[in-house]
Amino acid sequence: MKLQRVNAFLKTVPRYHPNGDDTQVTVKCPFCGDSTKSDHGHFSIKVDVNAGEPMWYKCFRADCEVKGVLTTRVLDMLGCKDPDTLIELDNYNKTINVNTDRDFVEKRGRSYQIVNVIRSDNQSKLEYLNQRLGIKFTPDVLRHFKIQLSLYSFLDINYIHSLPFSQHRCDLLDEYAICFLSMYEDYMICRDITKKLLTGYRYTIYRTAGKPRPNDMKLYAIPTELDLLDPNPAEINVAEGTFSVIGAYLHCDGIGHSARNNIWLANCGSEYEKTILHVVKQYGLVDVIIHIWSDSEIGIEKYEKLYNRIHKRMNILGMYIHYNTKKEDFGYAAEDIKIRTVQIDG
Ligand SMILES: [Zn+2]
Repeated sequence: MKLQRVNAFLKTVPRYHPNGDDTQVTVKCPFCGDSTKSDHGHFSIKVDVNAGEPMWYKCFRADCEVKGVLTTRVLDMLGCKDPDTLIELDNYNKTINVNTDRDFVEKRGRSYQIVNVIRSDNQSKLEYLNQRLGIKFTPDVLRHFKIQLSLYSFLDINYIHSLPFSQHRCDLLDEYAICFLSMYEDYMICRDITKKLLTGYRYTIYRTAGKPRPNDMKLYAIPTELDLLDPNPAEINVAEGTFSVIGAYLHCDGIGHSARNNIWLANCGSEYEKTILHVVKQYGLVDVIIHIWSDSEIGIEKYEKLYNRIHKRMNILGMYIHYNTKKEDFGYAAEDIKIRTVQIDG
């Protein structure tokens, strides 16, 4: 399906260039102003869309990377002032998933360094991770998963001078917790790994900089590539905890991480509903497949209720609840995982 007026307008935008099969065009990016070094545009728009599918855009300049649904606001930014053209897009956008946030704004993460220098005092944490998840966590692997063994190293490396809590509490976290940088890098999620929870809490979460806001998402996400121009549905994988989501990601291959367009998240104390609704809104997702890597104690009825609450807010093409029949969750080595999957019938 092509929007005639919108497509005709796009041909007038600076640096217009159609791709080979006319499914996408690139133009000059209205957000970053695009490259000054070349006359090549980086702002890609999907113009040949299926019924109900939004016109996605994405800027492929590395320091811009805006993406989302082409709205009348963006069309206006591109220079379109013709009311009939704006109305054509507005009418079309009313036919796409109405619950998708159409004024989708990409949330930019901060950029923190994860550096792990393996020393005698964090060696035991490293051994805990290696043994628990059954792989060897090298400094590169730790960085990939945004895992920081030592709180104080993180604060030092990133020139964070104020302590998040009292000196005593920070000492305990530095000694007994493994830290995970949150999805937008605005929170540090510290997971106490001692049996007696010597820090006093299973999870301690604090804001890495700036003031915390009540609606901030303190999710942990394994960094993966999400391609909004990909016509295949996005797969949302969620577990309760950080170890569980990493174990599922590492060891449950085939369902998960070799597939494109997978997102891997840990609630870290939030609700599944909130987590799923957040990423759907944040990325402007329409068609989704949901995988929940469940704790064993949570019965299937809870997920049936979850399905009933969220299915009108997105197009769920499949919802699968995975249990590890050998342990209470997926935060283990491959040999300690046996998957039992239950599909929720919508
Ligand atoms: Zn741009």
